Amino acid sequence: MSASTMTSAGPGRLGPDSRIQFLSGVGPARARVFERLGLNTVEQLLRHYPRTYLDARRFVSVKDLQPGELVTVVGTVRHAAALRTRGGRTDFSATVADATGSLPCYFFGQPFLARTLKPGTKVVVSGEIDPLDHRMMNPMFEVIEGDMESLLHAGRLVPVHALTRGLTARSMRQVVRLGLDAADRMSDPLPAEIRDSRGLSSLGEALRQIHFPDDDASLQAARSRLAFEELFLLQAVLELRRRVLSEEGRGLVTAGPGELARAAREALPFTLTDDQERAIGEIVADLARGAPMHRLLIGDVGSGKTVVALLAALYAVEAGHQVAFMAPTEILARQHAVTLQRHAVAAGVQPWLLTGSTPAADRRALRTRLAAGEPMLVVGTHALLEEKVAMPKLGLAIVDEQHRFGVQQRATLAKKGVIPDVLVLTATPIPRTLALAFYGDLEVSRLHSRPAGRGRLVTRVTGEEKFPQVLEFMARELGAGRQAFVVLPLIEEGGRLEARAAEAEFERLRAHPLMRPFAVGLLHGRLKPEAKQAVMDGFAAGTIQALVTTTVVEVGVDVPNATLMVVESAERFGLTQLHQLRGRVGRGEHRSVCVLIPGAAATSRARERLAEMTRTEDGFELAEADLRLRGMGELWGVRQSGLPRLRLADLARDEELVLAARDAAREVVAADPQLARPAHAPLREILFAQYREPLELALAG
Ligand code: ADP
Ligand code: MG
Repeated sequence: MSASTMTSAGPGRLGPDSRIQFLSGVGPARARVFERLGLNTVEQLLRHYPRTYLDARRFVSVKDLQPGELVTVVGTVRHAAALRTRGGRTDFSATVADATGSLPCYFFGQPFLARTLKPGTKVVVSGEIDPLDHRMMNPMFEVIEGDMESLLHAGRLVPVHALTRGLTARSMRQVVRLGLDAADRMSDPLPAEIRDSRGLSSLGEALRQIHFPDDDASLQAARSRLAFEELFLLQAVLELRRRVLSEEGRGLVTAGPGELARAAREALPFTLTDDQERAIGEIVADLARGAPMHRLLIGDVGSGKTVVALLAALYAVEAGHQVAFMAPTEILARQHAVTLQRHAVAAGVQPWLLTGSTPAADRRALRTRLAAGEPMLVVGTHALLEEKVAMPKLGLAIVDEQHRFGVQQRATLAKKGVIPDVLVLTATPIPRTLALAFYGDLEVSRLHSRPAGRGRLVTRVTGEEKFPQVLEFMARELGAGRQAFVVLPLIEEGGRLEARAAEAEFERLRAHPLMRPFAVGLLHGRLKPEAKQAVMDGFAAGTIQALVTTTVVEVGVDVPNATLMVVESAERFGLTQLHQLRGRVGRGEHRSVCVLIPGAAATSRARERLAEMTRTEDGFELAEADLRLRGMGELWGVRQSGLPRLRLADLARDEELVLAARDAAREVVAADPQLARPAHAPLREILFAQYREPLELALAG
């Protein structure tokens, strides 16, 4: 059914906009449970795709289980117990038995499962057997009830939807089935011309098959159709934005002749790397154009992004513009201000620091000068632009360590007339498909090479039982005047557990005889800003020699004297994140070491993943590996960056879909830049609902 033949729901007939409670047999009480999952309407329900499927054709008896294969087992829970780990976490373990044997299952940090997986409960579990200890780690499971039984016996792919308390899998499946009656009346964001030319199925058919697939082929087709749709929407936004924001004349010519930059460059105590030179060339070429720049400068920690940014800033200041240099935290802003000051002095430019703790009088004075349009370089946090700081001559915004700056902010700025140039600095090496999918509207400069004159950096993975030797090594490094980081992972949102774990580790180190001669410091997310600052200052000054820390951003300090980084429960970090962590050492002339210690509960696969760290020093390679091995949700920076979540598209596998979606989006936008055609109305409506601000700008004409 195409968009034009869609009819609104007749009287008594449920449509996609109907509330879930009006589906037969649901009612207000059950509807409230669905609301907890963010599902209010039938349309939202149908877009709640299964998380995965239990493959009733892959059932295996316990005695036939092979490690490393994805299998499904039906059985009865025998033993079940919550276990406290040494790290203070409570795990859950259960044994599932069938007629042929029993299978141990292990769930990290999910003690509440005791309520569901009681002995005697009939369940189906699905997952992989760990080859080392022959347990099924974190399996997916479902308690068997009525309809499950019949689905299993039909030998089908049984959908597994995300649930919430008070909602059973069975009930979810029933309600989704009812909702599917309205599937053909949902408006399809994919224009008919795209669907037809690509041979894609209708939305209704895809929704039926994604929830209750007939077979593997139908499931694949549905998944690929819906993933394409998801990527297409994203690409359409990028394409609309790119067309508008990169128009000549929308931006400012922000490059002066380069005399200031020349002066600063001549005073540098080092020569720039080829990559730095190339990046500066690319940036300055953008600044000199009347179209707004939106460029990412990607390079490992320590690759020298700050100098590049500073030289760019000097071009803009010279051209009479104001430059805002923004860091994610006050500590980093202050540190940037110091660095910039050091390098800008030769150019006769004075960088100003404007943060929450700038004294009121200074703040007022600075604001007055900014409001008067005086060309200057201001360093602050990301709040700099959002606060009511008037910067009428803002020509260049430099943003450190934040990806998605610009969508909202640029739209806001653009409404005022011209759009400043934006340069985003990031140490997160973004894999290619991800860059394509999310940053198709950005230009990218990359710094691959590490500046010369750095000591070697060695990475080792070692077991927890070797901790005494690690400590001995640490004592030797500290004794030789060097410094060390001990990093613990984030355990939970809000950081209460992590703070406790960090305190415990801090106490353990402090009490250790080998550490007695040294000052140990503690830094975690729940400390007050002043306390954090004091610890950071102490570490920078060398009065603190070993720093136990959980917070990663604050570790952004440049302490070239730090030569040892120990990462505990290292399997909990992504490779990219570990790579960024280890970039905190090896910044000085001394040989540095990064020791990764997987926790006791780490699977053999997790240990193998860590070994990648010893194989390569290329952050981009590690990012690709991360994407392949852990999926994109785990890529550092993605979760925090406010990127729309992709529900079906998998950037590790779907590169071709991304490219196809981009082509399709370009085709549609080129033919109808305002999406004004009736056939594009559903697309326009959905884009507006999801991406209002940037689109107002793009579609306003
Ligand atoms: P990033 O911001 O990419 O993490 P920085 O710009 O802070 O890296 O640079 C890290 C350190 O390297 C700084 O102390 C900086 O002065 C120094 N540095 C930058 N470029 C070079 C270079 N080409 N040669 C030697 N040292 C450099
Ligand atoms: Mg930096």
